[in-house]
Amino acid sequence: MTASQLALPSQDEDVAALRRLIVNKLAYSVGKDPIAARAHDWFLATALAVRDRVIERWMTSTRATKAEKKKRVYYLSLEFLIGRSLVDSLHNLGLTETMRTALGELGVDLEALRGLEPDPALGNGGLGRLAACYMESMASLAVPAHGYGIRYENGLFRQVIKDGEQQEFPDTWLEHRNPWEFERPEVAYPIGFGGSVEALAGNGGHAAIWRPAETVDAIAFDTPVVGWRGRHVNTLRLWSARAPDPLRLDTFNRGDHLGALAARGRAEAITQVLYPSDESEAGQELRLRQEYFFASASIQDLLRRHLETAPLETLPDCVAIQLNDTHPAIGVAEMMRLLVDVHQVEWEKAWALTQGVFSYTNHTLLPEALETWPVPLMERLLPRHMQIIYLINALHLDRLAEGGKTDPALLATVSLIDEHGPRRVRMGPLSFLGSHKVNGVSALHTELMKETVFRDFHALYPDRIVNKTNGITFRRWLHEANPGLTRLLVEVAGESVLDKAEGLEMLAAHSGDSALHERLARVRRANKEVLGGIIEERTGIRVDPDAMFDVQIKRIHEYKRQLLNILETVALYAAMRAHPTSDWTPRVKIFAGKAAASYHRAKLIIKLINDVAAVVNADATLRGRLKVAFLPNYNVSLAERIIPASDLSEQISTAGMEASGTGNMKLALNGALTIGTLDGANVEILERVGADNIFIFGMTAAEVEARRAAGIDMAETIAASPMLAQALEELRSGRFSPGEPDRYRSLVDDLTHRDYFLVSADFDAYASAQAEVAQRWRDPAAWWRSALLNIGGVSWFSSDRAVREYAEDIWNVPLAR
Ligand SMILES: *Cc1c(COP(=O)(O)O)cnc(C)c1O
Repeated sequence: MTASQLALPSQDEDVAALRRLIVNKLAYSVGKDPIAARAHDWFLATALAVRDRVIERWMTSTRATKAEKKKRVYYLSLEFLIGRSLVDSLHNLGLTETMRTALGELGVDLEALRGLEPDPALGNGGLGRLAACYMESMASLAVPAHGYGIRYENGLFRQVIKDGEQQEFPDTWLEHRNPWEFERPEVAYPIGFGGSVEALAGNGGHAAIWRPAETVDAIAFDTPVVGWRGRHVNTLRLWSARAPDPLRLDTFNRGDHLGALAARGRAEAITQVLYPSDESEAGQELRLRQEYFFASASIQDLLRRHLETAPLETLPDCVAIQLNDTHPAIGVAEMMRLLVDVHQVEWEKAWALTQGVFSYTNHTLLPEALETWPVPLMERLLPRHMQIIYLINALHLDRLAEGGKTDPALLATVSLIDEHGPRRVRMGPLSFLGSHKVNGVSALHTELMKETVFRDFHALYPDRIVNKTNGITFRRWLHEANPGLTRLLVEVAGESVLDKAEGLEMLAAHSGDSALHERLARVRRANKEVLGGIIEERTGIRVDPDAMFDVQIKRIHEYKRQLLNILETVALYAAMRAHPTSDWTPRVKIFAGKAAASYHRAKLIIKLINDVAAVVNADATLRGRLKVAFLPNYNVSLAERIIPASDLSEQISTAGMEASGTGNMKLALNGALTIGTLDGANVEILERVGADNIFIFGMTAAEVEARRAAGIDMAETIAASPMLAQALEELRSGRFSPGEPDRYRSLVDDLTHRDYFLVSADFDAYASAQAEVAQRWRDPAAWWRSALLNIGGVSWFSSDRAVREYAEDIWNVPLAR
């Protein structure tokens, strides 16, 4: 079995043709002679050659969708964390090995080119990565779809660790031109802000004319998204802001050269930067401008496309719009404005059309992340939308009153306007009301949604909330990231598992096969050597590939509890010092993740991890049995390297706080065992892999709620746990921060008296689960058996399965079987 057999044998493509195409691209598109070409020129030429192969199929797909008048899905997301495209496109086209050979004949190494591609980080974390996985699965399932988002000039910041601290640098991913995109200067929509509104007499008195004070143009950039085996290609359309009048010549001619460019700077600021905050709202005016800018451009665009072939009345038969969180929620009001004011649709009819097309995915229950906007800001920036929201709200509350629901407390909780304190527009309720379906992203999260944020809405509209547990694309996260494991799985389960991941369930029948254990161990070991090289190169830390790689990779956030992990590491280190001759399981603790630039506590946690690493890694008495490494600049490319080399997956959030997680799925799919809480999709992973093959510990969501109600002072809890008490005392004493003994004092105080995330409360349970992990590691047959049961068990978490569920239950889009 060679790698080339992994994918479709290339049909009419041969090595010589591909080689000629690359050389042509190099000459005529990059403008370089092969003799003078640098590595980056080869990357561009290769990407452009691959793009040609994608375009042929793209046009066929688009033509077919149009001819067959298929229903289209529009996925609106402020973030698309797509990662690199070269290997992904090659893999889905079945061209990887043909390309490797063609490049080889030109003296160029495909793996080297792979590393040269910038990693587009147009998202913060899980939410943006989910959008990227769903785009890939929609293309693979031939669901006609467009992703709509923003083409940020600067993606998520590049993280550098200096003296153990995070530093942020701009991410200039567009510096050397982006070979995958097509600029469409002819696709431009005016986006208004501010100004005044004049009521109109017609259309039941509901229509108005909005005269914006300011207009910005949205320009489209299209990137083709090719599905598995190249069967279908969809479009990711990202918007860029341009000033309609880039240079004020009158101002320029008066000698004010900078002033002449001011309007341009203001307009283009809208798409300059991604907000680097995860799970919380920045609440800045620029953010609201971004949200309206991309929602308006997208809805104008999809209405134009629809009206080319069909009347407005058929909109819900032809269009489904998915809101990825509330960031595009202003689109509900924008749709109403376009229908009522521009297309003269009667209000009730327009509302039915709007609800017919929209649906909304909720991603978080964290109160600080539930989006609201101050009414005065809305009135100033989007005066017509504010009126529309008031009217939607008034009619909604009237309908409730007519149904006998007059309790003022109920009406206040289900109002679109939050009246506690300064008035704010609540975007979650706006999304709920404007949608025919609302979904959570794991079974637990969906149940909690019904009980908390949308409790009253759920009582009023009991059929609206559904669950769609997240998924990941196996093409990127298994085939491309872990070709060694993929080859092994194909040998055991057959070639068909590349198309139907559920086929991996048959691994259960082979979970006791010791020869298979050995081969799985060899694949893992090779991946760990590669990661070990990366760790040494990027941090200078040497690690033993035979040690357990214990991995926590995700955004740094208090609820994700990296703090629990590093505290247990401190305790383990103390135990190793106290009992140096015990037979300790060698471990490498691997961390990676970015903290929002303004999130001081998260940044302090990064510093703590690095402080602990410095002390532990320098302690020769440990004889290499414990190492701690913080890998800088976590992104999709780094995840693709870490995950196939992971033995243990840390999914240890405070129960009830992680909506789903998708990192948990990627790691289990690659055969890592999970240590985790009963949170998010961990609950469903447990159901599918079985309690013997996952290390579940800690409080349940209900126990967390009860503990918070009872009080979160942990002084007694700590006093009862000598291990935890010692670890906290070591932090407090400055053992890990000798130059600044006070560095962690306030952190320890919080863990002692204000432990909102229940780190102290869950510490002992976590430490004993970790002891169990060490125990299992000593029994390789048991370990690899569990690993196989994980790989097979989590095949359900494919984004193909998730997208199929959305298509059937939410979008009402037929699927080709
Ligand atoms: C999968 C992924 C995430 C989400 O990880 P969680 O563990 O679910 O929070 C974040 N960032 C990147 C780069 C990812 O690939």
